[in-house]
Amino acid sequence: MADQKFVLAGVMGWPVAHSRSPVIHNHWMAQYGLRGAYVLLPVQPENFEAAIRGLPALGFSGCNVTIPHKVNAMKMMDFVDPVAKAMGAINTIVVQLDGSLHGYNNDGFGYIQSLRDAQPDWRGDAGPALVLGAGGAARAIVLSLLNEGAPEVRLVNRTREKTQALADEFGPRVKVLDWAERNDAMAGVALLVNTTNQGMHGQPELAVSLAALPEQALVSDAIYIPLETALLKNARLRGNPVVNGLGMLLNQARPAFKAWFGVMPEITPTLRQVVIETF
Ligand code: NAP
Repeated sequence: MADQKFVLAGVMGWPVAHSRSPVIHNHWMAQYGLRGAYVLLPVQPENFEAAIRGLPALGFSGCNVTIPHKVNAMKMMDFVDPVAKAMGAINTIVVQLDGSLHGYNNDGFGYIQSLRDAQPDWRGDAGPALVLGAGGAARAIVLSLLNEGAPEVRLVNRTREKTQALADEFGPRVKVLDWAERNDAMAGVALLVNTTNQGMHGQPELAVSLAALPEQALVSDAIYIPLETALLKNARLRGNPVVNGLGMLLNQARPAFKAWFGVMPEITPTLRQVVIETF
């Protein structure tokens, strides 16, 4: 223990005070008996590059990056993981021994893992998926579903141009539909995902009808506050299996912790409880 390295990491964003990442990483540090600290790094956009470049000098093993830095950070990396490149944003920086900076995006991993935690035999190629929304979360989720072999990803968003841009980028398995078609688009899907902010604490509920959704379709919501959105409640009451956004949040943190601390951490009921108590 005496010669164990003291690992420094954090989350850089603006604003960043709301981030649950310190709770998650500091919990794991204590659980695995590791020495280190994971801190909030409130950094304004104009200081972002200087802050990133300062990570090796400060002895940081790396950091998470969040709004508004996720896209901007990519061009400051010495290496960007191909998955992150395809997502167009990074959420994790790992400082290498030589001081160079490697960028990753673990949101897609986190999402897929959250489905597998809920349904261990979940398969991406089980059938078409319907994704509502086309923002940052949607990019990560659509790409990860395609990488998992989804035969078709139906994409609907209030602003159609954004869905078209994703389809142009991600290829012919992405089918663009109008926002008005979202209810009919549920017919025959194996998975329905909400990646809009509708249903989030402080926002109106997502306006959808589940009438056409197959009863065995998995319904997931990227939102984690509240843990059960009206979408998930309605789906649960009609018999659909459901997954909330907490699993994505917790799972995306695991590869980053592994990269910095050398341990792939587990998600325990205690960790879930500790994080839920911050909501
Ligand atoms: P974002 O990039 O700002 O995208 C927001 C999305 O919501 C866009 O598709 C937007 O459509 C849509 N939207 C906004 N107002 C709407 C309305 N009135 N009606 C219909 N659609 C509307 O945000 P994001 O980063 O993707 O995050 C989206 C959600 O995912 C948030 O609730 C966030 O908390 C959650 N999230 C969860 C995790 C996790 O780890 N669980 C990770 C990331 C995000 P337009 O394009 O038309 O504006």
